[in-house]
Amino acid sequence: MEQVTKQEILLADTEYLFPAVFHYYQEPLVIARAKDQWVWDIDGRQYLDFFAGIVTISVGHCNETVNRKLHQQIDQLQHTSTVYVNEPMVRLAKKIASITPGGRLTRTMLTNSGTEANETAIVAARCYTGSNEIVALRHSYHGRSNLAMAVTGVSAWKTAGAPQPGVVFAHNAYCYRCPFGLTYPDCGIRCARDVEDVIRTTTPGRIAGFLAEPIQGVGGYITPPKEYFGIVAGIVRKYGGLFISDEVQTGWGRTGEKWFGIEQWGVVPDIITSAKGMANGSPIGLTVTTTEVAKAVPSPTISTFGGNPLTSTAALAVIDFIEEHNLRRNCEDVGSHFRQGLEALQQKHSLIGEVRGLGLMQALELVKDRKTKEPAAAEAAALMETTRRNGVLIGKGGLYGNVIRMSPPMNIVRSDVDEFITRLDRSFSEAQHG
Ligand code: PMP
Repeated sequence: MEQVTKQEILLADTEYLFPAVFHYYQEPLVIARAKDQWVWDIDGRQYLDFFAGIVTISVGHCNETVNRKLHQQIDQLQHTSTVYVNEPMVRLAKKIASITPGGRLTRTMLTNSGTEANETAIVAARCYTGSNEIVALRHSYHGRSNLAMAVTGVSAWKTAGAPQPGVVFAHNAYCYRCPFGLTYPDCGIRCARDVEDVIRTTTPGRIAGFLAEPIQGVGGYITPPKEYFGIVAGIVRKYGGLFISDEVQTGWGRTGEKWFGIEQWGVVPDIITSAKGMANGSPIGLTVTTTEVAKAVPSPTISTFGGNPLTSTAALAVIDFIEEHNLRRNCEDVGSHFRQGLEALQQKHSLIGEVRGLGLMQALELVKDRKTKEPAAAEAAALMETTRRNGVLIGKGGLYGNVIRMSPPMNIVRSDVDEFITRLDRSFSEAQHG
């Protein structure tokens, strides 16, 4: 194959892609290869990957077990579309039915992305309830299609997203910056009650559903208090709606012990959507719901790539790998070690206003001043550059661009965390001192 230089790749990127396609870093990082928790750029520099391609490399880059199964499958059957049946698709659906909470989410629709998974969920909720109204949360992210942008609560990601009829927004449970100026636990979980206010004031009083991420990912890993989703679920059902849990980032054990993030709040949703880490980088979308809700979606529907034998094989292999290696426990154990390391950094670096998250999904909200909580966006951008120089990959997010997001592969070990913390510590010192 013809050798291409980094400059040629970056030039082609600027000339031939939509300029809207956003990359991290002043000079975009050209990744050439990856293995397990490590990534190499085109210049041969090595990075410890604590972002996992936006929370997607769940069991390590080019995982040997997953890839062996993929290689076998690609030589046997690569594509069918949903007008035919294939074994990996139904095996995956059966497996999912056995691990979803509550024992009643047994009907799966497979698609190609988180965006499509959420579209499918909203359509199903609207068909089932006969209502159009979706309650979403401020600071949410649900995808890049027209409808998914309409239910997204961060303006930067709404592009052409003119407000759509049938979508209303409640305040989120952002304790660090409480929208009501209250403090947990004396607040009485005021934000949860806002869902009822919004339904009663901005909808006809019946809703199709409530759509939320258990932890708001792009929003900056905003983690609601333990009472929040239980109260909200009661309100949503009182007004005839379905509870839709967007587990595109929080699914598959990342939050520790539980398969799905919403289980940390003890809520059994009516629909779960997922994507990303489900297939370790193969494009997939999942919408799983009850038989009654699934039956309400009128026939026919098809998906050309949905239930693809390759991506279904990848997803099955990932779920099996998580089970066989007890990775849900690993997320809990290594996650709490990680959390301690981050809290120690908070003691040391005044830029860190809050440490939050669950399991191996942890964030740092950076502030210029811990009292005023003024968002430190430029400092977060500078930290991205210094971490890159120190050989670690992290993510950035939040409405104000001041939240550092970390979500490494779920099979990392404590020594990876220690290495990461050392490099992050050094990066903070460098970013703060010029
Ligand atoms: N939901 C959540 C919570 C997400 O984080 C994302 C992607 N960042 C999506 C949906 C959309 O997924 P995709 O990019 O696969 O369409």
